[in-house]
Amino acid sequence: MEPSQLPSVDLLLQFSEESGELIQAVSKLIRKERGNNPTPATLEECRQSLVEELADVIVAIDALRDHWCVTSDELDPIVKAKTARW
Ligand SMILES: [Mg+2]
Repeated sequence: MEPSQLPSVDLLLQFSEESGELIQAVSKLIRKERGNNPTPATLEECRQSLVEELADVIVAIDALRDHWCVTSDELDPIVKAKTARW
């Protein structure tokens, strides 16, 4: 079974959980960079956690996009406009 065929609630929960893990990885990387509340993890370990959790979130986003039929035609102009505002 493709992930996008799971019930919507399961995909949303997966996205929520993976987003939380990404936030944890980001927080740990911030702590490592600031150095005032250090973590025993090395900078490279923190970076690897960031990469891992980014991948998990991308997979969850792709499943949500498939499930809800969110096309690039629909999404790309919004992404472009929001990127221009950064
Ligand atoms: Mg994860």
